[in-house]
Amino acid sequence: MRILVPAIALALASAGLRADDAFTPLRNAMVRDIAAISAATRDGTGKATLDARVMAAMAKVPRHRFVPPEEERYAYENRPLPIGHGQTISQPYIVALMTDLARVGPTDVVLEIGTGSGYQAAILAELVRAVYTMEIIEPLATQARERLGVLGYRQVEARLGDGYYGWAEHGPYDAILVTAAASHVPPPLIAQLKPGGRMVIPVGAPFMTQYLLLIEKASDGTISTRQVLPVRFVPLAGGR
Ligand code: SAH
Repeated sequence: MRILVPAIALALASAGLRADDAFTPLRNAMVRDIAAISAATRDGTGKATLDARVMAAMAKVPRHRFVPPEEERYAYENRPLPIGHGQTISQPYIVALMTDLARVGPTDVVLEIGTGSGYQAAILAELVRAVYTMEIIEPLATQARERLGVLGYRQVEARLGDGYYGWAEHGPYDAILVTAAASHVPPPLIAQLKPGGRMVIPVGAPFMTQYLLLIEKASDGTISTRQVLPVRFVPLAGGR
C-alpha cells in the first residue's frame, strides 16, 4: 500500500524538526492556512509565498503554550485570541507576515514592542541571534518571561517598559517589530534602527483603519515607507 505523506510533513522532516505534541496536525493545518492566505493576499503584500524559514518556525513553535488554558483548543485557528488584560495574541498569518517582512537572518538582533504572550518573540528567536522584547502591562511581561524560560528560549530577553521609547541599551537593531498600533511611528524607534534595518509597525487611530507599514532605513539613513495591508491591532499605550 502506498502511503501519501503531506508535503508539509516532508518539509518538517527535512528541516530536522520533530512531531512533538498532540497539536502537531493542527499546527501543520495552520501553516497550510497561512500559505493559502499568503497566496490570496499577494496583490497587497507583493508576495504569494512567505520565507520557508518563517514557515518552518510557524510549524515548530507550540502556539497552544502561549494562550490561556481555556483557549488552547483554538490555538491553531487563524485568528487572534484573548490573553487577558484586554490584550490578544496576534493572528498567526499576521505574525508570519510581519516576520517575513522584517527579513531577519541568523546574526540579527531584533527589538519587539508588545511582548503580549511572547509568541512573536519565540517565532523571532527561532530565526535570529537575540530578541529584546518590551511589554507595558506588568503581569503579561512577567508571564511571558516565565513562559519563554520554560520553553527554553534563552536568546529572548523580556522586560517591562514603555516600548514607545525603545530599548536603547541593546540597539541599534537589525529589525524592529511593533505589535500594537501606534498613531505615528515613534521617533525613538527610528533612531534605534540600524542603517539597512527594517521596521514593521501597524499605524493608525484605534478603531479606524490601520495599515501595516514596512519602514526601511537605507545605509545613508534615508527612511522609506511602504503600506502593506490594512490591519487591526490593539492600541500602543504610553508614549506621546
Ligand atoms: N506580540 C504579542 C501580541 C501582543 S498584543 C504576542 O505575540 O502575543 C500587543 C501588546 O502590546 C499588548 O500586550 C500590550 O499590552 C502591549 N503594549 C501596548 N502598548 C505598549 C507599549 N507602549 N510598550 C510596550 N508594550 C505595549
